[in-house]
Amino acid sequence: MAFDFDLFVIGGGSGGVRAARVAAATGAKVALAEEYRMGGTCVIRGCVPKKLMVFASEFHEAMSDARAYGWDVQDGSFNWTTFRGKLDSELDRLEGVYRRLLDGSGVTVFDARAALADPHTVTLSTGETKTAKHILVATGGRPVLPDMPGAELGITSNEIFKLDQLPDSILIVGGGYIACEFAGILNGLGVKVTQFYRGAQILRGFDGEARGLIADQMRERGVDLHCGTNILSMEQVDGGIRVKGSNGSEATYGQVMFATGRVPNTDGIGLEEAGVKIGRRGEIAVDDYSQTAVPSIYAVGDVTNRVNLTPVAIREGMAFVETVFKGNPTPVDHDLIPSAVFTQPEFGTVGLSEEDAREIEPIEVYCTSFKPMNHSFAGRSDRVMMKLIVSKATRKVLGCHIVADHAGELIQMVGIAVKMGATKEDFDRTVAVHPTISEELVTMKEPVRSA
Ligand code: NDP
Repeated sequence: MAFDFDLFVIGGGSGGVRAARVAAATGAKVALAEEYRMGGTCVIRGCVPKKLMVFASEFHEAMSDARAYGWDVQDGSFNWTTFRGKLDSELDRLEGVYRRLLDGSGVTVFDARAALADPHTVTLSTGETKTAKHILVATGGRPVLPDMPGAELGITSNEIFKLDQLPDSILIVGGGYIACEFAGILNGLGVKVTQFYRGAQILRGFDGEARGLIADQMRERGVDLHCGTNILSMEQVDGGIRVKGSNGSEATYGQVMFATGRVPNTDGIGLEEAGVKIGRRGEIAVDDYSQTAVPSIYAVGDVTNRVNLTPVAIREGMAFVETVFKGNPTPVDHDLIPSAVFTQPEFGTVGLSEEDAREIEPIEVYCTSFKPMNHSFAGRSDRVMMKLIVSKATRKVLGCHIVADHAGELIQMVGIAVKMGATKEDFDRTVAVHPTISEELVTMKEPVRSA
């Protein structure tokens, strides 16, 4: 049977665009449908605008540091309208880059919503129908509001970039990546931030000591963080949203932002009708090669809810092309993925937390926490943390956790060593770069504890 395309990709985010381009480069005839803006969550309403907001929010502290270093600078005020205009232009530019890359690769783009009609057919919201030998679903995920009365009064990370003006105060609900990152960003931009997290400590799943230090320093920087707390009720009142908290608090906030998790975009695109299996959390079930229960249909990225990070979606997209279009079956390696949380202070992490590692095998923990030179000189009290989790049996570094300025940049490099299987002794025989924060990673002599 002759198909219109060799590959039809549904979704123009990081995973979909990369897979489409790389597949087209093999000579395959490729189409991609995107219903909204090219670039997906990462470019349009996630990593990229978030990181630019992190940069914007750091100037407040930088100005006070500058004074401590002898500069005669006055605190200015942040102009959201100016920043948002520049942000919008930058996102337009990046979206254009994505479109040009697809055009240049010979991918046919449909600005339309696509749904599966059968294992080889998609229908488009334009009314067209297209057939393809392979279909790749890369529709990503979306934020969810909790199931509570009044929740619709709140916003999510989707709306935060589009606000006409910044509120004077905000309540952020959640203790994951998005909640903690935006607590720092908005606090830095001058918004009075309160954060409610229902559990005992923010950033569940990460190393306990790192979580504790980040929470302490978020509070020190001005975030009013309440753990073990949730919203009891919320209602619209003059001047904002009145919230009763389970900690006995009652206050009015200019905005309430829910960062209470994301769900895969699997609704209404004909997946189950076509025979694709959906998991318990609404994700597309795939095998190690990203193949679904229907042999011609594959899925990558957040819609599969494996590791929901842009570089992972890109890897999954490339492994799919390697497997299907290059005849080289390539499973996706989800082990030892370094990642960063752009909290303030920043957090970089790879491998096992101390808590997880000790459940698996006997370990040694190397950890140091100190005031870094640049902050100490500026009179700031914040501390950095460097931590290595080492296997007693193999001496391999099983995990590394860094809380410090540019921890994301540092963990990318440490990630290479850890992925290569470096031992503590490999770290030790590497000469320190002085004076830096990260030199502590190669100069920790004695374990602080064994477990
Ligand atoms: P997470 O799943 O990380 O966090 C959700 C938070 O909301 C948790 O603290 C959870 O609590 C809490 N929560 C869930 N339901 C409720 C409820 N009904 N009431 C109150 N609290 C609730 O999701 P995020 O939205 O923060 O991020 C989604 C994903 O996006 C991340 O997992 C990550 O993969 C990715 N991401 C990565 C970034 C990065 O790499 N820097 C940045 C942003 C996102 P509990 O812990 O108790 O379950």
